[in-house]
Amino acid sequence: PIRLRGIRKQFSGKTVLHDINLDIAAGSVTVILGPSGSGKSTLLRCINHLEKLDAGTIHVGDALVGYRRKGQHLVELAEHQVALQRQSIGMVFQQFNLFPHRTVLQNVMDAPLRIRKEKRAVVEARALKLLDQVGLAHRVSAWPRELSGGQQQRVAIARALAMEPGVMLFDEPTSALDPELVGEVLQVMKQLAHSGITMVVVTHEIGFAREVADNIVFMDNGAIVESGDARTLLDSPQHPRLREFLASVL
Ligand code: ATP
Ligand code: MG
Repeated sequence: PIRLRGIRKQFSGKTVLHDINLDIAAGSVTVILGPSGSGKSTLLRCINHLEKLDAGTIHVGDALVGYRRKGQHLVELAEHQVALQRQSIGMVFQQFNLFPHRTVLQNVMDAPLRIRKEKRAVVEARALKLLDQVGLAHRVSAWPRELSGGQQQRVAIARALAMEPGVMLFDEPTSALDPELVGEVLQVMKQLAHSGITMVVVTHEIGFAREVADNIVFMDNGAIVESGDARTLLDSPQHPRLREFLASVL
């Protein structure tokens, strides 16, 4: 249920996204590949309006992200309205950004309590279930600093899921991890992929893309150079830049 039309994004006059058009089906997993600086993070950040657009529109479900229509024009939404939209769009970053002075359980309970003002018992039950799903039922009382990077990232995933988003965005969720911890995070993401949530994942983990992605989007220089069915794209890449890229990461 994500639809991008004619997205353009500039930073101080330099265009970093050129006329991006993309449709992401509900419940699908889309992996975004591309070299450093190609615009992957910027594109992801546009989807939950962490970046303003210079042109184009993004819909998540029926909602026009970040803007409302006023006659012919688009007017940016107020911060609290953007915040409301973001509740349905979870995001996980390379850096886990857990609250250091809150326990694992408190981290996961924070947003539903503070932002949605849900009942504590309801929030706690959901948080415990999510922590169990990510394999951390035994660490609910730990402090973030007591956890490995892989465990912290799994808490970050549970924390995002606590708001029950329809869409999850992942920006290189495993690239800050020691190699031996990558697998446990990918495993959690794989399970999540089967849960029916819509996922957009920026990653260089081609194995994950091959196994889990429905679609792959390859970006270069701020444009989508090639996109389509994951297996087809990986097995017979058409564009020379994609072939070159795959040769460099495999
Ligand atoms: P990486 O693989 O290194 O994470 P990326 O594909 O995610 O790269 P982006 O971070 O989206 O690339 O950056 C795309 C381009 O936009 C780069 O040229 C980058 O320098 C530029 N850029 C990104 N954010 C900003 C910003 N806040 N201000 C100015 N330029 C920016
Ligand atoms: Mg990036």
